[in-house]
Amino acid sequence: MTGLTDEEIRAVLAAAMGYDNRRPGDLNVAAWQEASEIGRWTLGEAVEAVHQHYATRTDFLMPGHVTQHIRAARRTAPMPAERQLPTAPPAEPERVRDFMAQIRRSLGWTQRATTASDPELDHVCPHERCRAGKHRPCGYRLTRGTHQGEWRAIKGYHHSRTQAARQETNR
Ligand SMILES: [Zn+2]
Repeated sequence: MTGLTDEEIRAVLAAAMGYDNRRPGDLNVAAWQEASEIGRWTLGEAVEAVHQHYATRTDFLMPGHVTQHIRAARRTAPMPAERQLPTAPPAEPERVRDFMAQIRRSLGWTQRATTASDPELDHVCPHERCRAGKHRPCGYRLTRGTHQGEWRAIKGYHHSRTQAARQETNR
């Protein structure tokens, strides 16, 4: 288990956004990604945990709440199929897939295929935990957990780097 992807974390945060109007940025995504790794979340469980949390509580949702909900659900639920068959891909409920497609459309998050001619690559990434140099892909280094120090590439680019590239072309 390596936690959720950048995009999956955005889906979880978007679920929370529906209740608390938070405005998550790149740093939140990175922090929640680490929490998802430590707490061994799956996307379906994490989204469910967000809804469970706000169905019963009023405090601002933090990653620890999600981990607590997931652990509690695992104690009471039958073993998920993915644990019985470690090689099978995680089974995500249909509604989670629909939900992700929906937020991708509404918020303009796209899984971009990157190419060597992307304007982002002419810029050093301003993202605090990335700082990818020119012509280097975006990513971040894990600062906690069992994979501490490892570099993780992300799909596409950090938002701030895309912004920087856009400002350049509009000048
Ligand atoms: Zn970056």
